[in-house]
Amino acid sequence: MSDVKTIDQSYVAGTYNRFPGEIVSGKGSELFDETGKRYIDMGSGIAVNSFGISDEVWKNAVIEQLGKVQHTSNLYYTQPCARLAKLLCERTGMKKVFFANSGAEANECAIKVARKYAAEKKGAEYSTIITLQNSFHGRTLTTLAATGQEHYHELFQPLTPGFVHTPANDTEALISLAKTQKVAAIFLECVQGEGGVIALEKDFVQKIAAFAAKEDILLMVDEVQTGNGRSGTLYAYMNYGITPDVVTTAKGLGGGLPIGAALLGEKVQNVLGFGDHGSTFGGNPVACAGAITVIERMDEDFLAEVRQKSEYVFSALQGKKGIASVSGMGLMIGIETTRPAGEILKTCMQHGVLCLTAKNKVRLLPALNIPMELLAEAVEIIKCACAEQE
Ligand SMILES: *Cc1c(COP(=O)(O)O)cnc(C)c1O
Repeated sequence: MSDVKTIDQSYVAGTYNRFPGEIVSGKGSELFDETGKRYIDMGSGIAVNSFGISDEVWKNAVIEQLGKVQHTSNLYYTQPCARLAKLLCERTGMKKVFFANSGAEANECAIKVARKYAAEKKGAEYSTIITLQNSFHGRTLTTLAATGQEHYHELFQPLTPGFVHTPANDTEALISLAKTQKVAAIFLECVQGEGGVIALEKDFVQKIAAFAAKEDILLMVDEVQTGNGRSGTLYAYMNYGITPDVVTTAKGLGGGLPIGAALLGEKVQNVLGFGDHGSTFGGNPVACAGAITVIERMDEDFLAEVRQKSEYVFSALQGKKGIASVSGMGLMIGIETTRPAGEILKTCMQHGVLCLTAKNKVRLLPALNIPMELLAEAVEIIKCACAEQE
């Protein structure tokens, strides 16, 4: 361990404040460190390992594709890319898919689509994208500009122009801001993840959707974290009774391999033409083969189980000692604690449970197929860690 820590700290750019342990292996929702200590994984690689570690169905599909061809470039057709695009469209009603390799890249695509759509429809000056305060949309210079949190911006000026931010759940503020701008799109997370696991109000989202439709402003949802079953429906917007024009996703879609996707609805399905956008790795057959097994298994029964597990966690933690509030949707849960979240994480880790934070909260993003026994065991440890006195 000391070896990997020394080498990593000497040679890997210092952008991550890593935990002390080294993860060497795992299975399902259990991880093992270099001493053999076992942890229950309540983070799933930040909502990535949708079916846990080394899931057999996913692994077999990935290995089978690796044995055929690992990469072709986008100059040729491949089965996994075409099949995944069809599956995503059938499950959402969206019409076309652009494949990227990460959430930020999926969002870059959405922004390009919005700018081109508005330029062609209304004029090039209609370039403004409205996003929400406290949002998170990625780390590239453009998605940082979209991110409505000043502290991410400070050191990297100038960012891409054309982004304005407005408070969540304030319909009037958004509409009056829109009236002062030439707007291409409204872009939002239905549940703000990095911002503290906070679900938007249904009334706000529906009013914004109606306003956008009336003004021919695109409604784009960032489902990088909330998507792919995480919220208890396939995509979180499905809980809001809206039909977005663009849905972006990544994280859990690949089940552990890098993939991002921008799903394009009716209005924008033909906005991107030859040469307008591209990605060397986008639609990689290995990543797509794995992703197909992720989405194919998320049927109604599976999603109902996610919702049941969610209810279990909420009721087990809400109102308990040291817990001020529990927020979120599905298996994307934020816990506001009396003790600092960082301290809770340390206690949990000592007792064999790995959690995450979001702002001042403890954040839980377990694998969606986490067995009930493991979930109950982890929740008990988290509850005790929250109840501990300082
Ligand atoms: C994680 C995240 C991103 C960025 O995804 P990357 O794959 O890290 O680029 C964008 N939007 C939301 C809502 C996210 O949670």
